[in-house]
Amino acid sequence: MRFFLQRIEASAHLNAFVSVYGDEALARAKTLDEKRKTGQPIGKMHGVIVGLKDVIAYKDHPLTASSKSLEGFVSIYNATVVDRLLQEEAIIIGHLNCDEFAMGSTNENSVYGKVLNALDETRVPGGSSGGSAVAVQAGLCMVSLGSDTGGSVRQPADFCGIVGFKPSYGCISRYGLIAYASSFDQIGIFTKNIPDLALTLEVIAGQDTMDSTSHYPAGTSFSGRLNEEKEVPLRIAIFKEALEHPGLDPEIKARFRKFARDLSAAGHHVEIIDFEFLDYIVPAYYILTTAEASSNLSRYDGVKYGYRSMAKTVDLTDFYKKTRSAGFGREVKRRILLGTFVLSAGYYDAYFTRAQQVRKTLVDKTNLIFNDFDIICSPTSPSTAFRIGEKMNDPISMYLADIYTVYANLTGIPGISIPLFRHTNGMPFGIQAMTSRFKELSLLQFSHRLMQQYKSYENPTL
Ligand code: GLN
Repeated sequence: MRFFLQRIEASAHLNAFVSVYGDEALARAKTLDEKRKTGQPIGKMHGVIVGLKDVIAYKDHPLTASSKSLEGFVSIYNATVVDRLLQEEAIIIGHLNCDEFAMGSTNENSVYGKVLNALDETRVPGGSSGGSAVAVQAGLCMVSLGSDTGGSVRQPADFCGIVGFKPSYGCISRYGLIAYASSFDQIGIFTKNIPDLALTLEVIAGQDTMDSTSHYPAGTSFSGRLNEEKEVPLRIAIFKEALEHPGLDPEIKARFRKFARDLSAAGHHVEIIDFEFLDYIVPAYYILTTAEASSNLSRYDGVKYGYRSMAKTVDLTDFYKKTRSAGFGREVKRRILLGTFVLSAGYYDAYFTRAQQVRKTLVDKTNLIFNDFDIICSPTSPSTAFRIGEKMNDPISMYLADIYTVYANLTGIPGISIPLFRHTNGMPFGIQAMTSRFKELSLLQFSHRLMQQYKSYENPTL
């Protein structure tokens, strides 16, 4: 524990943590040590040091979604994932920086300021769970949790060269997770390898009476089954449009093509298939998520909790305006405005209804694809980590970079980013793999084999 606390202090400039619970964590480590010495059975995550994105509630600890609007707020209950981690004797080390309300792809939209990518401090770590990614990347904790509404775990994992996993919608309880877009949000996991990921998933996944959308059988085993005999060959689909996307970095594209050839050489059946909906998914995602966000964020009104403007006000509306104008950052305001617009009476059918139709079409198409295939593979992100500031004034280009990740959230399927390669610019990049809903185990088994296969020669430092 002391080793990690020292590292956190030495890496303070990366700005990954927003709160460090050092004394408590040391005390808990001591208690766990004592328990172990008595020979009693120990928890599955005994002594594992875990960081939480600043959107996951930990009783009696601050929780702000990296927003001024939640300044001073302290959680009054634990998220289900926190209860489950503590029950298995993990140690919570602190809360991690993120884009405000998990909206962003660079971690630059945080009231605590930007987070630096530890591999190149002139670059962003990705977002929105940037602090969670850097905490694992830089060895400041062993495992971290993030949230993934459109790629916020997989994309920063890709930018930082670690593993990032978003399970199926419903796999992990969202109780105690600050909502961004409730029908997309899932808690996700960052680790350096698949066995750690499998163990953490096993501990936190499963049905929870506090979240009626959770319905995974609790206690499903992942960690002991990674090396189980599996059906080889697998049927692997690659979307032609994803590979030919003009925004895709040529080097990533070439390496991904070679990766596809490697898979065929290993005996898998790899097919490049048409996916004519690719251009619709980012617009559908940003219409639906901003609509949900505009509703979810209406609760931050300065009356019940969080930041309250002390400016002189003339009436209640004026009070809300002043509080919300000062409490929310630029990107969050942009999304509330956009979401309110697409839900407004005159535009509802033109935007919201259409986007829901796109979502339904995508789900149907995805079910058909998984009749014929076990796995879909793509790059995780069209580029390696952006330079700090590079995309800040161009939100559309920032949104478009979510092209490969938002699909899994629109359709509820699991997706993982696996760090396999390194670009000539020195930055890591990986591949994304997705399976049909609740096929987490096959996805982890596939990922585990890939990590073992590629680690040794492509990315020896990981
Ligand atoms: N980059 C995406 C967005 O800005 C993803 C966010 C997320 O997954 N929380 O919405």
